[in-house]
Amino acid sequence: MLTQATAPQYERSSNTRSGYVLHWSDGALPLAGKEYMKVFYSDRFMLPLPEGHRFPMEKYSMLRERVEQAGICGPDEMRVPHAATDKEILRAHDPGYLANVVVGTLNAEEIRRIGFPWSKRMVERSRRASGGTLEACRAALEEGLAANLAGGTHHAFADRGEGFCVLNDSAIAARALLAEGLVEKVVVLDTDVHQGNGTASILRKDPNVFTFSIHGAKNFPFHKEEGNLDVGLPDGADDGAFLGALARALEQALDRAEAGLAIFLAGADPFVGDRLGRLSVAKEALAENDHLVLGSCRERAIPVAVTMAGGYAKEVADAVDIHFQTVKRAETLLRSERMQKGSVGAQ
Ligand SMILES: [Zn+2]
Repeated sequence: MLTQATAPQYERSSNTRSGYVLHWSDGALPLAGKEYMKVFYSDRFMLPLPEGHRFPMEKYSMLRERVEQAGICGPDEMRVPHAATDKEILRAHDPGYLANVVVGTLNAEEIRRIGFPWSKRMVERSRRASGGTLEACRAALEEGLAANLAGGTHHAFADRGEGFCVLNDSAIAARALLAEGLVEKVVVLDTDVHQGNGTASILRKDPNVFTFSIHGAKNFPFHKEEGNLDVGLPDGADDGAFLGALARALEQALDRAEAGLAIFLAGADPFVGDRLGRLSVAKEALAENDHLVLGSCRERAIPVAVTMAGGYAKEVADAVDIHFQTVKRAETLLRSERMQKGSVGAQ
């Protein structure tokens, strides 16, 4: 039985330009139409890291297990994505760089900038994570929302990687969809605490992709690239500062982008307990971040592919919590939309 009480509720808020904020129940909602949200994962392609390496590789399998346990996906809806092909990658990256990545001929400085030792598994993982974002975009275009439990590797430039990023999944996915004529314009909404410098650089001259990034002004990368809309926050910015700035800029980004698809980099690293974040944002405020981004896009009927991006909490379980609440929020919203469609169809 579909009732008004389980539909999303808009409440007045002074924090958003539209004057409203979206709330909806977390309770189990009946499914209507197609079942479940499509989720792509690639944690089986873990790469070998030396003891004590600061990249939290384990968070990806922890997140996938959490999503499985929560019943967000049916057995057929949680999928291992294809490995992004050379053709897909070369729409965003230089051939020489890709060749060096694939063969393992990156020099020591290039490897140092990436932060991972080279291995075949590093290459495979990077391809799969990019394939996951591309497939989440395709699923979102069909169904409204979908998620990649990896991706958000926004520090990868056309000709180099850095900051644990080898291939730029957002640029690869956006360019694929544009090349295939599946969408005319794409917006990249990056709320990871680090600026999406690689994304901004690769897509700067692309009139069909709008890049938005909200990030710590003094955090890595120390040289910021110019995106279409950048918001730099001071060190220590708290919930109110983060959400207020996001709400103001998000509406502007969506107005200007006129996009038919959004790629959302839902970084967990603005969190107060993050080792690399330098901000003071609580988990609850990051949930509100998800509300704002997902709700604002869906109010405008923009499909959203959700990617995870960074998360380096002192306790890895906190990063997993934050990523999980993003996936859960997307799934709840999708269920609500389907329920409403079912409700409308029944009248
Ligand atoms: Zn980050």
